[in-house]
Amino acid sequence: MKKRFISFGGVIFEGCSATSISVYRDAAALQLEDGKILSSHIIIDAMGNFSPIVRQIRKGKKPDGVCLVVGCCSRGFKDNYTGDVIYSSSSVRKVGGSKVQYFWEAFPAGSGPMDRTTYMFTYVNPQPGSPKLEQLLEDYWDLMPEYQGVSLDNLKILRVIYGIFPTYRESPLPAAFNRILQFGDASGIQSPVSFGGFGSLTRHLGRLANGIYEAIRGDFLDAYSLSLLNPYMPNLSASWLFQRAMSAQQNSNVSPEFINELLHVNFLCMQRLGDPILRPFLQDVIQFGPLTKTLGLVILTKPQIIPSIFKQVGIPVLLEWSGHFFMLGCYTFLSTFVDPALRPLLNSFPAKIKYEWKRHLEAWKYGSGLDYKL
Ligand SMILES: Cc1cc2nc3c(=O)[nH]c(=O)nc-3n(C[C@H](O)[C@H](O)[C@H](O)COP(=O)(O)OP(=O)(O)OC[C@H]3O[C@@H](n4cnc5c(N)ncnc54)[C@H](O)[C@@H]3O)c2cc1C
Repeated sequence: MKKRFISFGGVIFEGCSATSISVYRDAAALQLEDGKILSSHIIIDAMGNFSPIVRQIRKGKKPDGVCLVVGCCSRGFKDNYTGDVIYSSSSVRKVGGSKVQYFWEAFPAGSGPMDRTTYMFTYVNPQPGSPKLEQLLEDYWDLMPEYQGVSLDNLKILRVIYGIFPTYRESPLPAAFNRILQFGDASGIQSPVSFGGFGSLTRHLGRLANGIYEAIRGDFLDAYSLSLLNPYMPNLSASWLFQRAMSAQQNSNVSPEFINELLHVNFLCMQRLGDPILRPFLQDVIQFGPLTKTLGLVILTKPQIIPSIFKQVGIPVLLEWSGHFFMLGCYTFLSTFVDPALRPLLNSFPAKIKYEWKRHLEAWKYGSGLDYKL
């Protein structure tokens, strides 16, 4: 990929830290740590979750949720043919002063037939006293052998992995400055439930590459025009409820088994409804029809869980979620019925209007998950 980029005339400055950006009427100038200045029509901020530009835009706001992940890739797994997307074997437990619900993920690694990656992760509401990665790692070494049916003595640890994934309800992040656009994790386009930012980045790559190309070609590089590339997506906002439902609440009186029970009934219902419902969900794509069917079946299968859902997530979050759910229905309608009627007219619009309407049509499509093909 690097060779291909260079063969097209791309230049890579490795080990360089960007220190400041000045935006002018006709260009943006990026200052590097060593004093070099690079000027450009547009700057794509792909500096990840901890991008200093994002910190500036979000004004240092505390994340609404955090996913903490620890794990390792090890050699020595004899039974290494299957993977777990999400697995839970215990109820809510105390770590330090906080309650946490652990989840697991495991899959064969490409480095060798007996190499396997296993992660343990949990969702927390960031606050003083939240568990530390170090505490999670201690638990990981205790619990992973039981989860995988192995002994640590028979494993060669190839590498230890850990991560902190902050998530914000206000995502994706609209462009705040002319000529600067967030991309990848920096844009907040990843699901707040999985830490599948790379998957989401590839899902949106085609859309964003075309959009950025058109923005540069038409000189639509003001903050508003760039914001249309990171638009409101009701399916992403609706995912928020799932993170809340899967994080152990510190002062709630729901049963410590609630999260497992909820996941169990949800996955059972999705499995009964079949691949068109289950697969998009497992790939982080929330769609109106599958979500409605799953919720309906969950209510019919286990109505007694509903009061606990209210207690777990709280009425304000549920009300906010209902708004996103309604918008998900609207976006599905717009993308299915209004898009085909509007699309043939786009070429007759002036360039700027055409650029804007193309972005609206994309927002309807991606925001309702209709870009997903089974
Ligand atoms: C343990 C773990 C497991 C994961 N598993 C999955 C998975 O299974 N599936 C999946 O889809 N995703 C997964 N992810 C997430 C995935 O790695 C990220 O979503 C993806 O890397 C995001 O890419 P990015 O380019 O947006 O940001 P990053 O990969 O974070 O890249 C940001 C870059 O910007 C650089 N940078 C930051 N500040 C500056 C500065 N001031 N100047 C210059 N450079 C700067 C950083 O050094 C870094 O190289 C996982 C992540 C972790 C940590």
